[in-house]
Amino acid sequence: MADIIQLLPDHVANQIAAGEVVQRPASVVKELVENAVDAGATEIKLIIKNAGKTLIQVVDNGKGMTVTDARLSFERHATSKIRSAEDLFSLHTKGFRGEALASIAAIAHVEMNTRPQNEEVGTRICIEGGKFITQEVVATAEGTSIAVKNLFFNVPARRNFLKSDQVELRHIIDEFHRVSLAHPDIQFAMYHNGNDLFSLLPSNYRQRVVNIFGSRTNEKLVPVSENTEVLKLSGFVYKPEHARKSRGEQFFFVNNRFVKSPYLHHAVVAAFEGLIREQTHPGYFLYLDIDPKSVDVNIHPTKTEIKFDDEHTLYAIIRAAVKHSLGQFNIAPILDFDKDSGLDTPYSYKDKQASVPSIEVDANFNPFRDEGEETGTTDAARGSSIGGGKSRNTWQSDRRGSSSSWESLYVGLGDGDASANFSSVEIESDEVGGGKQEQVLFDHREENLPSVSTYQLHRKYIVTTIKSGMVIIDQHRAHQRVLYERFLRQMTVKEGVSQQLLFPIVLQYSASDMTLLSELKGAMEFIGFAIEPFKDEEITITGIPSGVSETEVSIILEQLLADFKDEIPDHSFSQSDRMAKSLGKTLAVRTGDVLNEAAQEALVNDLFACKEPGISPFNRPTYITITIEDLEKKFL
Ligand code: ADP
Ligand code: MG
Repeated sequence: MADIIQLLPDHVANQIAAGEVVQRPASVVKELVENAVDAGATEIKLIIKNAGKTLIQVVDNGKGMTVTDARLSFERHATSKIRSAEDLFSLHTKGFRGEALASIAAIAHVEMNTRPQNEEVGTRICIEGGKFITQEVVATAEGTSIAVKNLFFNVPARRNFLKSDQVELRHIIDEFHRVSLAHPDIQFAMYHNGNDLFSLLPSNYRQRVVNIFGSRTNEKLVPVSENTEVLKLSGFVYKPEHARKSRGEQFFFVNNRFVKSPYLHHAVVAAFEGLIREQTHPGYFLYLDIDPKSVDVNIHPTKTEIKFDDEHTLYAIIRAAVKHSLGQFNIAPILDFDKDSGLDTPYSYKDKQASVPSIEVDANFNPFRDEGEETGTTDAARGSSIGGGKSRNTWQSDRRGSSSSWESLYVGLGDGDASANFSSVEIESDEVGGGKQEQVLFDHREENLPSVSTYQLHRKYIVTTIKSGMVIIDQHRAHQRVLYERFLRQMTVKEGVSQQLLFPIVLQYSASDMTLLSELKGAMEFIGFAIEPFKDEEITITGIPSGVSETEVSIILEQLLADFKDEIPDHSFSQSDRMAKSLGKTLAVRTGDVLNEAAQEALVNDLFACKEPGISPFNRPTYITITIEDLEKKFL
């Protein structure tokens, strides 16, 4: 047999390696800015076009490169930062693998201009897809400027995989935050499509946080500081009342390198235990100085994951120090932070299961009531009551709705798969509740049976009968579907009904949240929010959609921001779609909410008036049917 193994050509190998280093524009930003920091720059400029898809440029005033170094820097495993494996244990640079520039050059058009200090002229190198195009002597500023254009131009699969500009820009901003927070002594600026996004003068840690996240951040910060033999810890946490639903500002830096450490994150969360609401996240900016020998930064190619020799000790120190700071600033009751179980009792209340209230009886509910008692229309109960945030937990309505007219849908349906048919059935909602209609309905009902219309089971399901058996509806998912379709419709036809607020609601957000909110503003107005033009870091809401309560507004926005940041739901196509999902999720009745009969019926009616009643906006079934036959089989 002939030999078949070959060495891959360099440019192919580089392209493969690039996949590890460069996942998206933000990865390029990270590598280039870190190189600038390593080069000792005191001023770094980041210039972005179209979320980095067209251009990523980093300009620094660092030490620059000689002609030879400039050329060599694009070779794989070419680095000035380590010489031997031992150097890995005393790292104080960001880079050391010597892979970044080679990888980036393999999958983009790169132009580098660089001049070392004390040299008259500099070097320009252009590379496209790993091929050297030009190298010339140029007059250029001291330091280095690297422009990366048309990222992934030769890897269409990667290019197509990129998310929207908004999402990619967020990732870039995240990287920018990380590196600029780690180096407050360096001046940073960032521009996107010609707009000045950040301009950060050299400062201290606290000012840097405030300059990035907004002037109101200052009063939120509680300093943390601890000096031990193994670890020097400094930084800030947000006061507990500023814990957010989204995971916003959570930063660990080890020796001035941003790292992710779920374990240490947990230490901070543990320190906040009992002080913040469930499902909210504390904000923190914590800087750890550790002997580089006891850290291994090399376990991940992009180097944000990290391994410590003695994680347990670090955990204990961090938890205690944060707890202590919160206590010192009179934020927490001052407790011994050396974990005295006796003293800890108040905290542990939080973890106790809320005791389940004993069975609640709906006084209005009468399974044996006579149909004849029912009068009027369901309009009051239907639709308009759904989505009412104020009354969500009680849903007390002073009258019972009429029987569930949606049952008419099933009259005459075969016993086949009912769910398959639901979406194709038209309903004429105007007739709902009309006497004549009821007559038709009940003709089909077996005589002498009590006319039970709906019943809430375990505060989670709405059970109701249909001709062929029964339907069990998941109240939360069903309501999500109803709200989702309603908001989507409102955004499409721009017809949201707004209720004017007597006292406008003023909310504060960071600059990056404001950017996101300004993109969502239009859609929010379509569904009934009235929002004044944005000021610095403040939004003023003068009207809200009808059916939404004032107290829910900040939660809605919080959830919107969280969803849009986390790219959840991931597979959504449009902004309106994602927004409708997010609002539906926030405002839908929950498992555990008691629905009175009118609300139950309204929900059922609304659900089956939906275009796709069978699934929630998140693709989960909203109801199941159990036919008489199914039941009969069970009794065999
Ligand atoms: P690494 O940073 O891991 O060493 P890179 O591929 O990122 O590898 O860079 C290769 C080398 O190019 C660096 O070691 C450094 O000597 C040089 N270099 C890269 N960017 C700059 C810059 N902005 N200023 C000066 N030198 C640079
Ligand atoms: Mg590097």
